[in-house]
Amino acid sequence: MEQVLVVGAGPTGLTLACGLAAHGVAVRVVDRAAGPAVTSRANILHARGVEVLRRVGALGDLRERSLAPVGMRMHVRSRPIATMRFAPDTTESVQALFVSQAQIEEQLRRRLSELGVEVEWGTEVTAASQDDDGVTVEFAEATPARVGWLVGCDGARSRVRELAGIEFPGASVVEQFLLADVLADWDRDRTMSAGFYHRDGLLLAIPMRGENLWRLMADVPVADQRLSPADIVAHFERLLPERAGETGVRIREAVWTSVFRIHRRLATDYRRGRVLLAGDAAHIHSPIGGQGMNTGIGDAENLAWKLALVVRGLANEELLDTYTAERRPLATEVLRTTTNNTKILVGDSAAARFVRDRIFIPLLNSSAVQAKASRTASQLWVSYRKGPLGGRGGSPRPGDRVPDRDCTRADGSPTRLHDELLPAWALLARPGTDADALLGAAREHVTVLFADDLSGSPLLIRPDGHLAWRGDDPMELRRWFADTLHARMGA
Ligand SMILES: Cc1cc2nc3c(=O)[nH]c(=O)nc-3n(C[C@H](O)[C@H](O)[C@H](O)COP(=O)(O)OP(=O)(O)OC[C@H]3O[C@@H](n4cnc5c(N)ncnc54)[C@H](O)[C@@H]3O)c2cc1C
Repeated sequence: MEQVLVVGAGPTGLTLACGLAAHGVAVRVVDRAAGPAVTSRANILHARGVEVLRRVGALGDLRERSLAPVGMRMHVRSRPIATMRFAPDTTESVQALFVSQAQIEEQLRRRLSELGVEVEWGTEVTAASQDDDGVTVEFAEATPARVGWLVGCDGARSRVRELAGIEFPGASVVEQFLLADVLADWDRDRTMSAGFYHRDGLLLAIPMRGENLWRLMADVPVADQRLSPADIVAHFERLLPERAGETGVRIREAVWTSVFRIHRRLATDYRRGRVLLAGDAAHIHSPIGGQGMNTGIGDAENLAWKLALVVRGLANEELLDTYTAERRPLATEVLRTTTNNTKILVGDSAAARFVRDRIFIPLLNSSAVQAKASRTASQLWVSYRKGPLGGRGGSPRPGDRVPDRDCTRADGSPTRLHDELLPAWALLARPGTDADALLGAAREHVTVLFADDLSGSPLLIRPDGHLAWRGDDPMELRRWFADTLHARMGA
């Protein structure tokens, strides 16, 4: 029996499968599509997403194939009002990349293949039923399978979510966006994105890697008729002069077009017995701010090590409840901020547009606002300190993310903390600490690292880079594994 079946080979399912395979779990990945998607879709990988891909071994050459986000020049109609500079945190070693979802998925598939797993395309899950020992899964055309765990990474219209009977409440929202990646003759600075705010709505132009390639996005009233790629290009040819005052743009070719309506929905739970959800299957929201893919990748990293411990008999199933408890509040926060930002930027009343044009957009000139907005988008701030594995005291606190840093291995060779994580845990201690005595039986799963400048007790760091525990009492650590982590790792 396969241990885990991952449904969906989008960024979430692929990251999860890489994480599970790295932990030695037998994983199968199926997708109903005939083959990999080639369209760009999400085009920014925020810093936390870069960090996760690096840990999973899937960053590959994405840095070389991307553009670094610089910022966005904001215009009210065609008049420049503010320049919102992207202000990455210079104390962090990772930065956002402008890179397409197709390229990210390609790198994840490459890594998964290195780990010995190939995606099974053209394999649609149609039914599933679970009992105490596993899940029986049926496919449209393939032979049914019996698996230990089923994870739905099958996107917004998740069949797995439906089969598990998990509710997906929220609002089908009225905004409709047109999107086109176009090759255009446009005499415009390509180091910056441009946002044009108009009484009829917004228009965004984002430079993409490739000569004269731009992503255009605009909100338009909801229309019932289907729009062809030619209709969408025609819309943009009209909207560029209307909303941006740009009369000299010649769109030569549309590489990809899309129409999407923004829904805001959040699954009531991410787990029902042996069935789990991650990514868009669990949460959907506005693409403004580019948080969707990044949140899904984060879900996958959080779930991978927990499910691996359970599958390998090293932790009780109860540990899986901490997955919803840690990730659902984050999705709630992402929905709240993306909803608010979309409402402000779309400006659907005269009063809202007044606030947007006279207060909100000019504020974006402030470097403090820029630093805060960049930090919010990065998801480097994500902390689980208020969750069931969180704790009080010290900095970082249990549950907080531990930034990457220099340290040395037990043999004295230099390394970086995050390079040593996943599948391993890490114990970061001052040189001379008796790590074996502290860790006991858990030593087998933990890489011991040293740092001269560490203040206070040793830090035990989870495979996803968050602080698990700090202290120097072996008995306390054993109790933490058993009582808090529901794990037999320390026994
Ligand atoms: C225009 C646009 C721009 C965006 N920009 C950004 C951005 O800049 N940054 C960002 O973070 N996010 C962005 N997003 C959101 C991002 O694209 C999604 O959040 C992301 O694709 C979700 O990944 P996923 O793996 O959870 O699901 P998906 O990518 O939807 O993958 C689900 C997979 O499941 C498969 N599947 C579905 N049903 C079944 C079944 N029954 N059996 C087998 N397989 C099945 C599908 O074929 C698909 O391959 C954007 C979205 C849009 C529309």
